[in-house]
Amino acid sequence: MVPPQIFNQINDKCTEGLALALASDDDGAVMELRWCNKAFTRITGYDASEAVGQRGTILIGPDLEQGVHLHIIEKLMNWENFSTEARNNRKNGDVYRQRMNWTHLSDPETGDHWWLCSIIELGDERPKILNRETGLQDATDPDNHSRVLEKIRRLERENSRLHELAKSVARDANQDALTGLSNRRHFEVELKSWIEDLKSLGTEFAVIYIDLDRFKFVNDTLGHDAGDRLLVSVADMLRDLTDDTDLVARLGGDEFVILRPLAKSALSISGLADEIVLRMQAPFIYDEKSTACTTSIGVAIAKATMQDPERVLVDADEALYHAKSQGKGRWSFFTDEMHAKSIATKQLTSDLLLACERREFIPYFQPLIDAETGRLVSAEMLVRWSHPSRGILAPGEFLDTAANMGLLKRIDEIVFAALQTALSNLDDAGVDLPRVAVNVSAARLADPSFIHDIKSSGIDPGRLTVEILESVYLDRMGGLVRWIIDELDELGVTLALDDFGTGHASVRALLEIRPAILKIDRHFIQPIVEEASTRPVVASIIGIGKSLGMRVVAEGVETEEHARIVSDMGCDYLQGYYFGRPMSEHDLRDRLMETGGTFWTGAPSYFARNTPRAIGRAV
Ligand code: C2E
Ligand code: CA
Ligand code: CA
Repeated sequence: MVPPQIFNQINDKCTEGLALALASDDDGAVMELRWCNKAFTRITGYDASEAVGQRGTILIGPDLEQGVHLHIIEKLMNWENFSTEARNNRKNGDVYRQRMNWTHLSDPETGDHWWLCSIIELGDERPKILNRETGLQDATDPDNHSRVLEKIRRLERENSRLHELAKSVARDANQDALTGLSNRRHFEVELKSWIEDLKSLGTEFAVIYIDLDRFKFVNDTLGHDAGDRLLVSVADMLRDLTDDTDLVARLGGDEFVILRPLAKSALSISGLADEIVLRMQAPFIYDEKSTACTTSIGVAIAKATMQDPERVLVDADEALYHAKSQGKGRWSFFTDEMHAKSIATKQLTSDLLLACERREFIPYFQPLIDAETGRLVSAEMLVRWSHPSRGILAPGEFLDTAANMGLLKRIDEIVFAALQTALSNLDDAGVDLPRVAVNVSAARLADPSFIHDIKSSGIDPGRLTVEILESVYLDRMGGLVRWIIDELDELGVTLALDDFGTGHASVRALLEIRPAILKIDRHFIQPIVEEASTRPVVASIIGIGKSLGMRVVAEGVETEEHARIVSDMGCDYLQGYYFGRPMSEHDLRDRLMETGGTFWTGAPSYFARNTPRAIGRAV
């Protein structure tokens, strides 16, 4: 048994620097220095209060050779006693040569592992690595020395392999697995940093947004393997057309994007877009089958003057949408006009929701005139949006957007309610509006609640005409549409086929739907005054309608001459600006009162004062 006061003198008198450290059970790492003596402080520069509590890394100075460092780690991990001789740094950075000995200790009671580290400062000799196990100085044993060096090299190789592995893990996280291009995540990070550079350095760049036009078709017809092959070949092509300064990414599905610095000149950007479109025109061949898959591209520039460069991707997407709507297989540049339009559409979308809430949709009426008597027989109800700041808006300004938003049913409901009120107001005023025609959209014609809405509108179905667009009817001639048409018939609603002649297979539509009324589209009517050669077409449409027992309406009657020609040709009813533009309920009431219901005094039988033709139920 050695008395503790003898142990205490190790602190003061031992010339070797000594430290005791608690080790990690898992990997032998020096977790925490718990004690050191005065020689340790003298050699390393750390006094006890600084060293205690620190990890072993304070013993690894920046000038310690990498190989020695790895050697230390390897030995610690294996709980092996060992020595090193190397250059190292003191706390203040001074370089000195040292020998370190490490001895593994363990506490049988707690199971804790400890390291005893002793440090001796050496003179300026050649570095040596000692092996305490063999007791031989490696420097004096060339074999052993080269074995140790070999081991160090191996460890260094291992270290660089690990480094590569870490890099490839990072790469996988950034790479699209199928094509090897950057994935969406990496693209987003990159875009952010390109935008930061734009803001700080003014480096402008282009975003080239690429979308395949018929990818789904390839997938569906040739299978997913073919789809994958197509995506890989597109990726290869994009790699081929770009260089290291560009960023090429697959955002998912069949969407790709390229970021290209503008420094390469605008020409290089349009040239790139041209080339991609061109190359994609070549057929794609898979399994000896050939198919076409073109691409559409939207291009936008992130400019230094932009207030909000973050939206450049949305701009490119907008341009892509434009390219698609222009017929696909092409590219479009994002323009200020598109910018204004996209802002306007956004505004319109939110305004429309509000408009439904405030019930801002109102019915306007356009008279239909009996070609023989000149008297009003009906009015077509045309919706208007009574916009709080923009005034009265025509359907062309909002109906498509409303349809995309799924708001047509809601708008119908609002206008139908207003129509019912308008009709009873007109009745109360004692003016005669025999019937009213409403337009029905494609979606509503396949919606069973449409019948319910008509029944519950409070409008006499016998007074109602429903105008169906020929193209709508043909697209949707499913069982449900047939059922709705039969129901309308049953209710006593009159059917009219609208815009006749603008769709395809017009006669087939006519035969299948058998409407009571045929409305000739205004594009056939308008030229008949100036170009007599267009009249035979109108004549034959009238002939077809008549032969099927239908009443024929000429739309777009803008002048007295139009009116005369079409009535001579046998049209039953006339509609157009000549008799009146679509007007509000009040204006219609005033016009009816003023005219007593006669809108065309030039009508053939007006002067003759024949009994006016009975107003057919089927108007
Ligand atoms: P439409 O059913 O063919 O309606 C006739 C359109 O031609 C109306 O445009 C009308 O103002 C216009 N028009 C009438 N006479 C003349 C003329 O002599 N010359 C010229 N150049 N144009 C004339 P509006 O009111 O802008 O309606 C456009 C379209 O919107 C309608 O075409 C119809 O398809 C649709 N629409 C209108 N109201 C409704 C509605 O309540 N529901 C649905 N689903 N669609 C509606
Ligand atoms: Ca119509
Ligand atoms: Ca029409």
